[in-house]
Amino acid sequence: MTLFRILPSLRRKIAVAYFGIAFLTLGLSLFAFAELRVLEEKILLGERIAKLFDTAMEIRRFERNYFLHGQSTDFDDNAQYCKQMGELVDGLQADFRDLGMTDVQTNLRGQLATYRSLISRYAAAEASGRRLVEPQVRAAGQRIVASAEDMVGAERQTVRASLVWLRTLLIIVVASVVVVAIAIGQALARRVVQPLQRLERGVSALAGGQRRALAVPGPDREIVAIVSAFNHLLRDLESRQKHLLRSEKLASMGTMVSGVAHELNNPISNIWSSCQLLLEDSALTSEQRQLLQQIDEQCIRARNIVRSLLDFTRERPFGHEPVPLKDLIEQSLRFLKADLPPTLDVRVDIADDLVVPADRQRLQQVMLNLIKNAIEATSATGRIDITGVRHNEAAALDDNPASLGCPDAPWVELSIRDDGHGIPPDILVRIFDPFFTTKDVGKGMGIGLFVVYQIIEEHDGCISASSSPGGGTTFVLRLPARPADMEAP
Ligand code: ADP
Repeated sequence: MTLFRILPSLRRKIAVAYFGIAFLTLGLSLFAFAELRVLEEKILLGERIAKLFDTAMEIRRFERNYFLHGQSTDFDDNAQYCKQMGELVDGLQADFRDLGMTDVQTNLRGQLATYRSLISRYAAAEASGRRLVEPQVRAAGQRIVASAEDMVGAERQTVRASLVWLRTLLIIVVASVVVVAIAIGQALARRVVQPLQRLERGVSALAGGQRRALAVPGPDREIVAIVSAFNHLLRDLESRQKHLLRSEKLASMGTMVSGVAHELNNPISNIWSSCQLLLEDSALTSEQRQLLQQIDEQCIRARNIVRSLLDFTRERPFGHEPVPLKDLIEQSLRFLKADLPPTLDVRVDIADDLVVPADRQRLQQVMLNLIKNAIEATSATGRIDITGVRHNEAAALDDNPASLGCPDAPWVELSIRDDGHGIPPDILVRIFDPFFTTKDVGKGMGIGLFVVYQIIEEHDGCISASSSPGGGTTFVLRLPARPADMEAP
């Protein structure tokens, strides 16, 4: 069944098989019906020919009566039946033709005429003459009956042949329906049931804990759709599992970090206070003063670290206001002015009226972290592109796991691209982890991107990073936008 190989969907395959059997049965039934009609015609012809034969017998009966009793009524009845037979022979012209017996028809006409003239001669003759004519009349009558018998025989022959043909036809119909049904059944089993069984095995393996993507077991649209839905679900499940794990890890880490930070805060404050007291002593040598100043600097640094850790773990109320993105980026760039080399080419391409509902302070933190990282990754003569676009139509989700959980339309996409040193693939998968940094001690704490991730998630958005070593890095974030009619002016 090559046709089944071409059809790209299970529904079509089953429909084609169903209609194939239905049309075959209908066609064969119509054919058998037509043959039955032919048989019916033949049976009707048999009735007409039987009437012809009965008339011939009646002719002979009245002929015998007439010879026995010599009554004129028998002669008249014989004449009446001869006339009736003549009409029947003329009326059955088409039947004689169908049976291929037009010569018998012609003969019968002649035989009837001869018979009529002989019996009339018999009636007109004297007793001696009648004896001579009687055998001739009988012989002519027998010929008429013999011709009628020939016709009956020929008609029975055709009816028998039709019955044999109908029996053969019935066997052919049943056999071909059975053969075609078996062939279609086998093709359906191969093309429909087998892929479904493979799919069932794959799904059972999933239920058994296997976490590999399902292979597509056949080219049919429904199967491809089910498999891709399953695989999408699987990826979604994996990403949610990771996310859950991460959230749990972070929650316990947050508790621990805040506890450690609190505990460190007091000794650092005590050391710093003592250091301040000692620094007030005028009897210090310059070397001692220098050492104390170093202690003072390191205390301030440690206090800042503790503060930022406490800041990171502290719960703050979430604000929700329309934030114009261009304005936010420009303000962030002003904050980072001290870190921005004057030769660095920073380009912002965001419409003035592009607004997202957000916590301004938190979103500002996101921009500061991302732009700061971009500045640090690029050379002084490098380039940073910041673009923002609003999407009103739902876009097909890309296969990137990072796109899972991204907001539906309308949404705003913000991308921050630099042409810096880029991120190797083995590091790229870890950059959003807390306390992951590739920077030197004292330069980075590794919580910048982690905070970015948390804030974007709090905004029901999503973030993804793409990079290649030496080819720069792009961070793309998607945030839910307000419907156009609710945009702030
Ligand atoms: P930190 O900046 O303190 O190291 P982050 O969480 O902000 O912490 O960043 C984590 C790591 O991600 C960085 O140490 C760096 O290796 C990498 N990274 C982040 N942004 C970029 C970028 N734009 N280009 C190259 N590497 C980056």
